[in-house]
Amino acid sequence: MAAPFHRCWAEIDLAALRQNLVWIRQRVGPGVNIMTVVKADAYGHGLKQIAGWLMHCGTDLFGVANLAEAQAIRSVGSGWPALMLGASLPEEREGMVRDRIMATVSTQDEARHFSEIAGRVGKTALLHVKIDTGMGRLGADPAQTGQLLRIIRELPHLHLMGLYTHYACAEDDEGFSEQQRRCFVGALKSLPAELAKDAMIHANNSAGILFEPETTFDAVRPGLLVYGIVPPGKRSRGFEVPGQLRPALSLKCRVSLVKDVPCGAALSYGRSFVAPQAMRVATITAGYGDGYLRNGSNRAEVLIGGQRCRVVGRITMDQTLVDVTPLGTISSGDEVVMIGRQDNDEITAAELATWCDSIPWEVLTSISYRVPRVYRGSHAA
Ligand SMILES: *Cc1c(COP(=O)(O)O)cnc(C)c1O
Repeated sequence: MAAPFHRCWAEIDLAALRQNLVWIRQRVGPGVNIMTVVKADAYGHGLKQIAGWLMHCGTDLFGVANLAEAQAIRSVGSGWPALMLGASLPEEREGMVRDRIMATVSTQDEARHFSEIAGRVGKTALLHVKIDTGMGRLGADPAQTGQLLRIIRELPHLHLMGLYTHYACAEDDEGFSEQQRRCFVGALKSLPAELAKDAMIHANNSAGILFEPETTFDAVRPGLLVYGIVPPGKRSRGFEVPGQLRPALSLKCRVSLVKDVPCGAALSYGRSFVAPQAMRVATITAGYGDGYLRNGSNRAEVLIGGQRCRVVGRITMDQTLVDVTPLGTISSGDEVVMIGRQDNDEITAAELATWCDSIPWEVLTSISYRVPRVYRGSHAA
């Protein structure tokens, strides 16, 4: 059991994380590199612990969002390759070159700056060139990628490590994903072979791994799937989630107070909920300050005593009210599950996201700094 003094905490099942990675490994095959995406504190699971654990579990590389994340990984395992998935800021580049953190490059200007910095510090800058096939966020125009690679070849102190693209809606839109796939494959084919010959080619995020197996190439970049969640969307609706994939994170808090309220009583800020009859209501020890999104007010459900209880009134910063009228016994101190399993029921991050008009990525990364992460399962794995 988790330490009893936590008011709101996240339990992270390391055995589940390992199993999820094993499942991804089986799906993509043995020769393919797995670049586990651990940006945003490993999707809220805790970057250092998760990176350290995944180093044991068979990840090959890490995908990060910034220099601090890459350096956190380096502090756990010094030699691990890490790719910064976003465009780098000019100020970040020297640190990246010094620490051999791979950079994502879309333009000649970025390549030139990396070359200049690497020359100055006496190192080689490691680059992945991104090709924009329809995401529109980063990447070179496919028609100009050859020219960019030529410049990178000519400039000193640069090493082209990879070439990649990113799906915009692989969990939703088969037609557009096919267009992106064709665009990427076409761009790769049009490149002079000698310019890209050692580059690691990669495209698939979690949804790509599930629905675009033809673009597995040399590496895949799973985020959500490693944490045991299938990206929700039109294409995943018919997807039968294999038993080995399990959510690694549970979010829990406790009942602090139970009280009976009369018919007509208004509850919480804004008086958005008025009791339609006499009810029993519990105050629980989590709110939006913990990352329990306020959009779930009057909609989200939690598990108490193995039963679903609906949030009533607005979620506040540190406390939330839930309707516990149907419950038999309940007392202060009882465990409340906001994400995860209790007895025979489970609330998934995707389900909570639906109540909050959000997505599981946001639900996970919203879990705030004050919520302790409790790790389990490293021995069982
Ligand atoms: C975040 C990210 C991923 C991982 O996405 P998931 O949908 O969580 O698998 C992969 N590639 C890039 C470029 C990303 O930014």
